[in-house]
Amino acid sequence: MYVDLTGYKIYVGSKKDLVLKLQKYLIDQECFDKLNIVSGNPEVLLNGIENKELNGFFKREDSLIIPDGVGVIVLLKIFKKYVTEKIAGIEIMEEVLKILNNSFSSAYFLGATSENLKLAIKNIKKAYPQIKIEGFHDGYFNEEELTKIIEDIKKSKPKVLFIAMGSPKQDIFISKYMDELDCKIFMGVGGSFDLYSGKVKRAPKFMINLGLEWLYRVLNEPFRIKRLVSIPKFIFKSIDYHFKDRCK
Ligand code: UDP
Repeated sequence: MYVDLTGYKIYVGSKKDLVLKLQKYLIDQECFDKLNIVSGNPEVLLNGIENKELNGFFKREDSLIIPDGVGVIVLLKIFKKYVTEKIAGIEIMEEVLKILNNSFSSAYFLGATSENLKLAIKNIKKAYPQIKIEGFHDGYFNEEELTKIIEDIKKSKPKVLFIAMGSPKQDIFISKYMDELDCKIFMGVGGSFDLYSGKVKRAPKFMINLGLEWLYRVLNEPFRIKRLVSIPKFIFKSIDYHFKDRCK
């Protein structure tokens, strides 16, 4: 179940149905050959429009964009498009980890600082001992290390590649290597490894429920305020696209 927003096909079904779909896909090998799960918040979607390297990538058939971000939900409602619920990327990552654990499958973790990544891996191993961790590398590497990372992933063929380098870096990485790497799921997960490390906390539940997770993040990490500019920019692009589309 999908709707169009600025030319993007946004998944608007329930989180439960999506998880079932991913489970079938990962375990029974149904539906797709490869899948890129995109946490569709205004910043990421705007990058997909404005970034030359990404232009068009999220519109590929093998990209599944989830409505992650209150801005996207509000826009869909303004345009009277159906949407079941906001689906946070971190929650889908958690569900994918559960599926991998239950099916004794494998994953590779790329991104974050070395310190946070190691802590995250330790916590993930503890919570999901049956996942085969094929490898991990922090998100600060040079060309030589990149070649080694790509070789590692090619050799170990993890089912899922989680990339936590922020947008657009993680998305550019996926757009460059998705065809070349033999993974079933590619997922850009932003600051999720920092959350798994335990060093960063997610917003309290009442703020998440009120759609104020972005405010919590800005209050805790004020440098994020600059990034909020992508919200009005994306709203403008969406309104422009919507009315042009209706006039066609
Ligand atoms: N990061 C990285 N390499 C880089 C730049 C950033 O691995 O070159 C990591 C950074 O350490 C952090 C994550 O990417 O763990 C960025 O997360 P952010 O919170 O900005 O992403 P969001 O959740 O907002 O999409």
